[in-house]
Amino acid sequence: MRLTRYYMPTLREKPAEAEIVSHQLMLRAGMIRKLASGIYSFLPLGYRVVRKVEEIVRQEMNAKGALEVFLPVVQPAELWRETGRWDRFGKELLRFEDRGEREFCLGPTHEEVITDLVRNELRSYRQLPVNLYQIHIKFRDEIRPRFGLMRAREFIMKDAYSFDADEEGLNRSYEDMYDAYSRIFHRCGRKFTAVEADTGAIGGDVSHEFMVWADTGEDVIVGCSQCGYAANLEKAEFRVPKGRGDEKEKSLEKVYTPDMKTVEEVTGFLGVSPSQLVKTLLYNTDKGFIALLIPGDREVNETKVARLLGLEKLELAAFRDVEELTGAPVGFAGPIGLGGVKLVADRLLEGVKNVVVGANEEDYHYVNANWGRDFLPHVVGDIVKALPGDPCPRCGAPLEFSRGIEVGHIFKLGTKYSEAMRAYFLDAQGQERPFVMGCYGIGVTRTAAAAIEQHHDEDGIIWPISIAPYECYLLPTNTNRQDIREASEKVYQGLVEKGVEVLLDDREERAGVKFKDADLIGVPIRLTFGERGIKRGVCELKLRREEKSVEVPLERAVEEVMALRDSLFLEVRP
Ligand code: ATP
Ligand code: MG
Repeated sequence: MRLTRYYMPTLREKPAEAEIVSHQLMLRAGMIRKLASGIYSFLPLGYRVVRKVEEIVRQEMNAKGALEVFLPVVQPAELWRETGRWDRFGKELLRFEDRGEREFCLGPTHEEVITDLVRNELRSYRQLPVNLYQIHIKFRDEIRPRFGLMRAREFIMKDAYSFDADEEGLNRSYEDMYDAYSRIFHRCGRKFTAVEADTGAIGGDVSHEFMVWADTGEDVIVGCSQCGYAANLEKAEFRVPKGRGDEKEKSLEKVYTPDMKTVEEVTGFLGVSPSQLVKTLLYNTDKGFIALLIPGDREVNETKVARLLGLEKLELAAFRDVEELTGAPVGFAGPIGLGGVKLVADRLLEGVKNVVVGANEEDYHYVNANWGRDFLPHVVGDIVKALPGDPCPRCGAPLEFSRGIEVGHIFKLGTKYSEAMRAYFLDAQGQERPFVMGCYGIGVTRTAAAAIEQHHDEDGIIWPISIAPYECYLLPTNTNRQDIREASEKVYQGLVEKGVEVLLDDREERAGVKFKDADLIGVPIRLTFGERGIKRGVCELKLRREEKSVEVPLERAVEEVMALRDSLFLEVRP
């Protein structure tokens, strides 16, 4: 491809609206443009990268016997009502009516549509397993679209759905997908890790997220370098640290704590450590108000709370509700004498002695409150976030924290959707049974952006060859000179003939502009044709990721590029 015929509007300046590197560089390299919040157009360069990621995904899915389909973006409300998700999914589901006032939504995910597709037609255990996938637009009306393609509203996802006769079959399908995902992210040149994850709005029991390491990632990965345990912070468990002393119970005392509402204020004033205070947090849920009791130095993990109590919604209670329930302003809630709400305590607190709690009275706290004697929670469970250094749930070694970008997510759904939608097959005994399902997503556009987070420098993107928009950039420094023009044209023709994806910068621009653009768009291999070299019959071969370049004779240029390209591909072979 010739740059004189290309549409690649590069920007010199950092766009003000872009906070993270991938977003900045995709805008600057002329890969994407914003149409509306969280909605992007892909320009030629950007779309080539997307297509490369898609192709890797497609090849690996096909290799596992999955079959590609193409499902509608517009989905009727009735299907979503069958599973109850029309009401439950919340505002991420963009709903609308057609001219006949029939309700529809834009698909944020396709469990309902796919289950509807196979029920009544996939009938016998002999036809199983089946795995159907698509690579397509998803729409989610995200509350905070940001970071460009990372958290968009319209984005491209690969979603796959497996149908098996039993759990064993599902386990095999899941393993296959796990393996395919590992190969896909490896081929995309990503450093990644698979972590245990919560199943969220999709549902099911077991799930893994594939995380690309990046400091800008929105997810926190909790890991153990001893045994390899890894989980999303939302899900991460930890052992109860040992060593609570055998204290004697002291007598309960109400103390005046004027205007002191935060953990720091109260513990500072009383001269105790934050872990000796029990925070009481009131939440409003779909099952009524609850009070969560957690150690003063911990944070609530709302995902764990929802799972423990089977909640669909939970949010911190409004100030007004807190006042009504506790009889005091926010900041003085405590478990003693708190009626009308379910008390849910973290297991770390089980049996605590002589702790500080709110007194449900303005400006007062209790000291020396004791579990069992002064308050007794209704439910005890793991409801707090792990902290760095907590003991690993498997081996007890200290947990470590890092950040990542979730690029893929696989779920064992079981029979949640097949039962709700009456999707049955006949087993070997002629009995009707619900399909045992799995679902598997990859954010294709997010994967492209995540690549940039991992591979860039101050000058621009450094693509791994497997998903680079082009493999080789030919840079004639001065197109007014015939010898340079001819030499670069000849190499260009040679590379095109060999099937190398090559960009020829035949623009009448200053060399400096061309070098800047070449670095910005990050094509892995560059060949430069300069005046001095041409006279000696050589051009300059350079990898985008390396500082140094080497001279190669013009007549060997095509071969050298081919060899380098092969070796770069070898690096990302699984
Ligand atoms: P997140 O926790 O980031 O919102 P999710 O759990 O909602 O993700 P899934 O429903 O599992 O995501 O979707 C599968 C994949 O689709 C994700 O792993 C991610 O790569 C991608 N994805 C999800 N939401 C977005 C989005 N708003 N923009 C771009 N990609 C997304
Ligand atoms: Mg989401």
